[in-house]
Amino acid sequence: MARLRSRVSDVMTLRPDIIAKGPRDWRAPPNLADFDNARATFTWDAARRELAGLPGGGLNIAYEAVDRHLNTAARDHIALRWIGRRGQRRLISYAELAAHSNRFANVLRALGVDKGERLFLLCGRIPELYIAALGALKNGSVVSPLFSAFGPEPIQTRLAIGEGKVLVTTEALYRRKVAPIRDRLPRLQHVLLVGEDGKTTAVPGTLDLVTLMANAADACEIEPTGAEDAALLHFTSGTTGTPKGALHVHGAAITHWATGRYALDLHADDIYWCTADPGWVTGTSYGIVAPLMHGVTSIIDEAEFDAEHWYQLLQEQDVSVWYTAPTAIRMLMKGGPEAARRYRFPRLRFIASVGEPLNPEAVWWGKDVLGLPIHDNWWQTETGGIVIANTPALPIKPGSMGKPLPGMDAAIVRRREDGAIEEITAPDTEGELALKPGWPSMFRGYLNQEERYRKCFAGGWYLTGDLAKRDADGYYWFVGRADDVIKSAGHLIGPFEVESALMEHPAVAEAGVIGKPDAMVGEVVKAFVSLNSGYTESEALRMELLGHARKRLGAAVAPKEIAFLPVLPRTRSGKIMRRLLKARELGLPEGDTSMLEGSS
Ligand code: AMP
Repeated sequence: MARLRSRVSDVMTLRPDIIAKGPRDWRAPPNLADFDNARATFTWDAARRELAGLPGGGLNIAYEAVDRHLNTAARDHIALRWIGRRGQRRLISYAELAAHSNRFANVLRALGVDKGERLFLLCGRIPELYIAALGALKNGSVVSPLFSAFGPEPIQTRLAIGEGKVLVTTEALYRRKVAPIRDRLPRLQHVLLVGEDGKTTAVPGTLDLVTLMANAADACEIEPTGAEDAALLHFTSGTTGTPKGALHVHGAAITHWATGRYALDLHADDIYWCTADPGWVTGTSYGIVAPLMHGVTSIIDEAEFDAEHWYQLLQEQDVSVWYTAPTAIRMLMKGGPEAARRYRFPRLRFIASVGEPLNPEAVWWGKDVLGLPIHDNWWQTETGGIVIANTPALPIKPGSMGKPLPGMDAAIVRRREDGAIEEITAPDTEGELALKPGWPSMFRGYLNQEERYRKCFAGGWYLTGDLAKRDADGYYWFVGRADDVIKSAGHLIGPFEVESALMEHPAVAEAGVIGKPDAMVGEVVKAFVSLNSGYTESEALRMELLGHARKRLGAAVAPKEIAFLPVLPRTRSGKIMRRLLKARELGLPEGDTSMLEGSS
């Protein structure tokens, strides 16, 4: 990587700081060709009218995504092209997806699962996940996806906070991750199991989904949900306390439609591949809802990242629009341009990225190696959909997140000493990124945490928790997080959750967790621990703690590094000073330490 970086940065010095674009660069006329005009004329009411709405009124995400295509030519179009881990293939048309999801809705009805009750998904990228999500939405249930690489602890916490009544999972995941915590989940009434390769299962305390689906009718009346009815529950991490369950409503579909059109430039004949896992918000909003709403064919790849496999998929599946993430792009870059050049991507016409800062080198790499620049965009769990984006219409400034989309108003703000929020209008000045509330996919609350939700709003703005700048041309540039939350391989990790798991080990007296910058995955989770008396630091204990955390939290969340300290720096009120741990780790100035315990 070091060699690659120096080679790339040699070239970088010769790069212009803008990639101009115009009709010659478009491989299809874009949906958004005149950015300023679209921003001036766009209204959410007009976007709402582009959706069908439920017969008899109301709005339901699954109806917009699937059933409304049934009276159109898209009916027999392939909605999902699934590629299994071992190369198995399954094609599902819009008509089949409608019937399967109806069956699933009927399964829930037969089990007595009512509107508003919560269903959790813990599956890898398998067709049943998509069918269950859509079927549950048709039933009016609230869908909460979990990342399948979570360990038992994060799964238990989220299911408990979300009061999950139903869980859909695979036999393997159930045995490894859910069975050990099942007795801590009294609200969980039904576990629906998907067997390996669609085989039936017979695991005590669970129901076999294959059998239930086989016995269900494939027609169903969709629950008459309204735009403000809860639809999705996405967990996100904060600096302190338990994870936050961000609630989204069926009306979010309006944003999914508009952003799929403007930010991802989806056309009905696209072959689209969103590489995000549906356990996270990107994999739901843009891996399930938005592409289906636009009637495209989505590639669902069950396997984990592998550079050769990804190039192969892009080529063989004729992907035309690709939505991926910086860590994946950096891993492809690491393999060198020769790996990519063994493949051809004649249909590929638009590439977008989200989740973490996209280095200018990566934007240029796309242009040089794949023939297309990569369009960074920004959003977060709470916004439910893309907010700031590089679109086909505008020149790209590599390193920038782009501009607020039509319908979205952003600002850079600072909190004055009297607590008031002040907009910063001077260009290139750092402040907190704020958004004017009112777009349809905005979260409607943190489940059971009204105060935490309220604190996100001030002075008529939603405060994102990100630090950013806006330049004189109106492009936004990410600076960093305003809090201690860690972004590793695009996944948001709450240090508190990691610290709590470490503290459960008898050797650990205190734990402080930081994100340590990493060239490949953005940040890696690093923990500092002090030990209880009777324990001494050793390599064996470090390995034991790493293993303990991994077992509880899962590989995606557990620390990669653990260091021992005699004591951890704390504020006078007893809070561990993660900021100081990080500054010391990176050899940076320690800043204001007047709050440090023991300081005079
Ligand atoms: P999540 O809620 O897990 O989707 O994470 C959202 C957070 O990821 C944002 O608040 C940012 O800190 C970060 N993020 C998302 N997209 C970008 C981007 N394009 N550039 C920099 N950071 C990003």
